[in-house]
Amino acid sequence: MSRRPAWLPPPRLPESARATQRVVAPQRPSGPGLASDGARARMVESLRRLGVRDARVLDAMGQVPRHAFVDAALASRAYEDVALPIGHGQTISKPSTVARMIELVVQSLPESRRAAARVLEIGTGCGYQAAVLARVFAQVVSVERVRGLHEQARNNLRAMRIANLRLVFGDGRLGVAQAAPFDAIVMAAAGEAVPDALFEQMSVGARLIAPIGTTRQALHLVERIDRERWQVSVLDAVRFVPLRTGTS
Ligand code: SAH
Repeated sequence: MSRRPAWLPPPRLPESARATQRVVAPQRPSGPGLASDGARARMVESLRRLGVRDARVLDAMGQVPRHAFVDAALASRAYEDVALPIGHGQTISKPSTVARMIELVVQSLPESRRAAARVLEIGTGCGYQAAVLARVFAQVVSVERVRGLHEQARNNLRAMRIANLRLVFGDGRLGVAQAAPFDAIVMAAAGEAVPDALFEQMSVGARLIAPIGTTRQALHLVERIDRERWQVSVLDAVRFVPLRTGTS
């Protein structure tokens, strides 16, 4: 019996077998193994204990293999409630933060509107939260400003074949005008204020959740009341990587 965790890449093959391996073997197995299934179920239980109630959010968190979005060396920690490095000085947000933010934006949408709801994520990073969003919303657009991460997310997501998710390379502070308006917007990086373009790209009744602040940050929940009015509530203290300008 092998004691390797199921999600590690296969062992290196001898030189003679490599050419074939390149053609037939995926870098990382696409189906999660039993060990990660159990760890993910325990993660969902702890999210429930932390107060996450929305059945669709819990279900999505139970389905998406978080270990497939981090480096193999960190995969054994993928189901702990911690942020982990993903390269380029960025981090994958911790599961409880991902669940809470998605729950806050989806909660207010009536069932009738959820079926066709469109969401914008600013800060794709490794693509994990985008994959969770794609299980909760009908359409997801996710934008990333670092080319290397945009490509990393594309690679991580390829095997999952998520048809309702579109990845965009660009500065998310400008939103994605061609795909607007959105029923929800989730910002995964902290700015000093919500960028103006994002207010405009919310449909009436839509919610936006964003970490705001520099040394001290708090989650801000914005709701568009009508064409001219937005209501802002300040929620929990949080810690996110900064929202930056332009692309790199
Ligand atoms: N949602 C991600 C979290 C990534 S961390 C996940 O599940 O892993 C936040 C990301 O926001 C980083 O990848 C960072 O490069 C990106 N980011 C920062 N400023 C941005 C901007 N103006 N537009 C788009 N992405 C931005």
